[in-house]
Amino acid sequence: MRAVTVTPGVRDSLRLVPDHPEPPTDEGAILVEALAVGICGTDHEIVAGEYGEAPPGTPDLVLGHEALGRVLEDPTGTLQKGDLVAGIVRHPDPVPCPNCAVGEWDMCRNGQYTEHGIKALPGFARDRWRVQPKFAIGLDPVLAPVGMLLEPASVVAKAWDHIERIGGRAEWQPQTVLVTGAGPIGLLAALLAAQRGLSVHVLDLATSGPKPELVAALGATYHSVPVGQLDFDPDVVVECTGAPSVVFDAMCKAGPAGIVCLTGVSSGGRTIDFDAGALNRELVLENNVVFGSVNANRRHWDLAAEALARADQDWLKSLITRRVPVEAYAEAYAAGPEDIKVVLDFQL
Ligand SMILES: [Zn+2]
Repeated sequence: MRAVTVTPGVRDSLRLVPDHPEPPTDEGAILVEALAVGICGTDHEIVAGEYGEAPPGTPDLVLGHEALGRVLEDPTGTLQKGDLVAGIVRHPDPVPCPNCAVGEWDMCRNGQYTEHGIKALPGFARDRWRVQPKFAIGLDPVLAPVGMLLEPASVVAKAWDHIERIGGRAEWQPQTVLVTGAGPIGLLAALLAAQRGLSVHVLDLATSGPKPELVAALGATYHSVPVGQLDFDPDVVVECTGAPSVVFDAMCKAGPAGIVCLTGVSSGGRTIDFDAGALNRELVLENNVVFGSVNANRRHWDLAAEALARADQDWLKSLITRRVPVEAYAEAYAAGPEDIKVVLDFQL
């Protein structure tokens, strides 16, 4: 069967292996036929040789962590043949740490977790894969064209879950949300905000392309000015750029009792001048919280599956700006200027 692989740490080692071995049964009882995988910045970093780790004893890593497949067989009866399924990306560490021990692998404390297509577990960019029932998420059949968005949606569902848990520290009636960055994570964060009935603002540099229209279609307001020029103080900020100056401005912009959730990963090494005293003063005197959020546990995957199923399916489809057949895999992993989500399609 076909599989898209890299040799981690080796730049441009991306290739399509035509005769990759079938998934071993110890990977899981549920056998799945791949429909598609989504591609994100983490894949680009792995392809560039900057990130990624092969499974023990092998030089190569099968890519793909944003999975969508169809069940071929499930002898456990958890799912039925033909069901849509996604595989949870992260597996708990073997120690396990206190969080992994209770299924909160998204909060792993020792860093010894593994991740499909990223860290020591083969990914989903292969014709067939297997998954254990506890890591399999069944999807509503309506999500067949867009189900590979479940992984980024799970990241956003976790961010919102934690925002709401933090908000619950005191009486909290949020009204206004600012999302910085209108990539897939930002747009899905805006979708979940709109589903909560909040007044949603999305800020991005782009003034053309599909982003302004996608934001408007959510009933949200699009801004392409610096954060400091916005004329409102949001109750919640979901920061999705990782750009140092935007991160800093977002932390300062939140209103009283505001919550700032950082989801973007900065590359580091880029420094900006900022007034740490002024930021401290702002956070203390307004009871603000700034926190980071990454990954998702099974509860968040389930929440994400519900959120996607009740979203406008045409809107979700329009997040996918390119669908590339597996045979043209190199095109799929080359970022284009107008891309939002690029999908590697196993059925084209
Ligand atoms: Zn752990």
